[in-house]
Amino acid sequence: MSHSKPSTSAKPLIVRVAVLSPLRRTFDYLVTEEFAAAPPQCGCRVSIPFGKREVIGLVIEQTHKSDFALDKLKPVLAIIDAQPLLPESLFKLFIWAANYYHHPIGDALFNTLPVLLRVGRSLPPPRVTKLWKVTEVGIERGHEMLREGRMHKQRALLDELLRRPLTLQGQILKFYTRGTLKRVEEKGIAELVAIGPQAVDLDNLLLEQPLKLNPSQQQAMDAIDCHGFNTWLIDGVTGSGKTEIYLQAIEKIIRYGRQALVMIPEISLTPQTEKRFRDRFNVQVAMLHSGLTDQERLESWTQAATGDAAIILGTRSAVFTPLKHPGIIIIDEEHDQSYKQQDGFRYSARDLAVIRAKQENIPIVLGSATPSLESLHNCDKKRYQHLILNTRAGDAKPPHWSMIDLKTEQVESGVAASTLNAIREAIANQQQVLVFLNRRGFAPAVLCHYCGFCAECPNCDARLTVHRRHQRLLCHHCNYKRGLLHWCPSCRGNRMVAAGDGTERSEAWLQECFPNTPVLRVDRDTTRKKNAMQTMYDTVDSGAPCILVGTQMLAKGHHFANITLVAVLDADSGLFSPDFRSHERLGQLLTQVAGRCGRGKMAGRVILQSHQPDHPLLEVLTQQPYSEYSKLLRKQRKKSELPPFKQLVLIRADAAHAQNAEAFLQSARQCAEAIFPSGEKINYLGPLPALMERRNSRHRYVLQISGGRRSDLNFLIGQLVLDLEKLPMARHVRWGVDVDPQEM
Ligand code: ADP
Ligand code: ZN
Repeated sequence: MSHSKPSTSAKPLIVRVAVLSPLRRTFDYLVTEEFAAAPPQCGCRVSIPFGKREVIGLVIEQTHKSDFALDKLKPVLAIIDAQPLLPESLFKLFIWAANYYHHPIGDALFNTLPVLLRVGRSLPPPRVTKLWKVTEVGIERGHEMLREGRMHKQRALLDELLRRPLTLQGQILKFYTRGTLKRVEEKGIAELVAIGPQAVDLDNLLLEQPLKLNPSQQQAMDAIDCHGFNTWLIDGVTGSGKTEIYLQAIEKIIRYGRQALVMIPEISLTPQTEKRFRDRFNVQVAMLHSGLTDQERLESWTQAATGDAAIILGTRSAVFTPLKHPGIIIIDEEHDQSYKQQDGFRYSARDLAVIRAKQENIPIVLGSATPSLESLHNCDKKRYQHLILNTRAGDAKPPHWSMIDLKTEQVESGVAASTLNAIREAIANQQQVLVFLNRRGFAPAVLCHYCGFCAECPNCDARLTVHRRHQRLLCHHCNYKRGLLHWCPSCRGNRMVAAGDGTERSEAWLQECFPNTPVLRVDRDTTRKKNAMQTMYDTVDSGAPCILVGTQMLAKGHHFANITLVAVLDADSGLFSPDFRSHERLGQLLTQVAGRCGRGKMAGRVILQSHQPDHPLLEVLTQQPYSEYSKLLRKQRKKSELPPFKQLVLIRADAAHAQNAEAFLQSARQCAEAIFPSGEKINYLGPLPALMERRNSRHRYVLQISGGRRSDLNFLIGQLVLDLEKLPMARHVRWGVDVDPQEM
């Protein structure tokens, strides 16, 4: 060991470290002689003293300069990673995101890393993969051996295994029990082969033949160049075959030896989507979504980072997954709100994905039947290339819309008499029906018949929802719950009425009307149970008549071949919201729900129940293509100087006392105006109470700042946040910046 000190002229090495902290800055640490031979590189985790604790930080930069005196700097205590945990490109993405969203970089970094890496766990060693294959015996005599009727599960498993040379054990156990697998093994029909990380077998890449593209699909496919950065928007009606284009683009990418990152909005969609990818490709597919255990998440993350997984399929935070050989990014249902994180680090995964693709110099494909106005605007500005698919793939026809005027109808549990007739007819014809109501629970309110008292949440400006099955009142905003009310707390009257309709009530009524038809409710209450979605799919796939009653969970991405009638019970709820995005959301939601029907051979019908059947927006939406509707909305946005024509940033603050939140934002506005006075370039509005002022016992306020130029806004907010951190009032509020807000 050498004890010689470095010559005094050589400056000591300093590292800038990001730490999980609400402060928008990094921290400097000294790299002592102990680590001179192998100093921590950028992207490595280090252990450091922080206040009174020892914490884990990530090295952002190596330098020899610090704004602090050398003897004030504390030393790095230990180096956790010998090799960078994050590749440089991803690193740059975090720095970009922290600047763009004005969020502390440490918080952004650590909150998107797998939990186990946050606490200092090292990367797992290359995983031994458990794969199953059919034995010689199985191939020759498997079917014969499993002929008996009650062995149908084992037969299905055999068929599954015969379809692909090697099947992951984890994949099998999603659909079959350990018992089934064991019995098939004991009979000598299948055997376990454990191997290390799989190399992609390009000769046997496909497990099924790609579909022959129709001319519009082919045109889109030809346009997508798999080399270098470019953004495409596939604007294709529901069922137009967007997914088939993704699959074929991914095939090209894998053949170049690269990986595909595919983002989808929700976990509830993953079983079906996942299956489509696994059915097509004989490669490892790593899943990343909130339903994983910490260990599973770390494994998927590692498979992406090492290149073992050729396809990474994930929800929002998957945009931060390191890729060894990045090849393409695909964002399905790009308009979906779930891509925007709604608290803490409020990033848009879609927008960051575009930045990431640019930094990695790879193509990115966004797809939707109802593209966001932002993306359409980017097509107009030639930033994105617009690919349009106007017709459904295969034989399916677009649905036919009709309106039902609620003012002139008898309505029971949300269902109008004519709607009920239409459902009856469909069921009589052995068809399947989807009833859409975007309100879970039995009824959205409980009222006193005598005095009109309405039960409200003690923590929120919101009514309590009646949940009859669980016999309780529930707040959908803070999860406050209590028992049902039998007496009015205000006048002691004994007639409490459940007012309005939720999915639970409509379900009960429909089941009463159709006692011999399965009525399945699909909302957050029913799908909490494991396998609930699978049961729903099994019922729908069986083709037998059934009625699905559900919320927006049913609207997204599902492919139901046999649904011929969609009934929207309440088309009005989105018409009168003060949020400027509500009309866009309404159009997207209704178009997406309507897209669930008539995907098979039979044409579909959509019934819209409304109190305003002549509303001009509903008229355009039901009688013209979505592109006309979005054109209309864009005109309105332009006129009212709203996104995507203006840029918007909200400073949000909440506090236990309303005046603290409001006063903080009042000061924020003063600080901001001192940096950038209100005028042509920048406008201020507020502070204003949020749409729901009180939520979870916190009073919420917003300051809205808008501008025509991104660079002005970015400069302003960058200065402003530094001022805000120093305000003494900041200690009494929780505050944050929301760039490109999706919710007001
Ligand atoms: P989207 O993603 O646009 O909703 P999908 O890719 O799910 O559409 O396709 C809808 C249906 O049409 C699927 O059943 C799919 O198998 C089928 N399909 C897609 N492309 C073709 C094609 N070129 N020929 C025949 N059927 C197709
Ligand atoms: Zn509440």
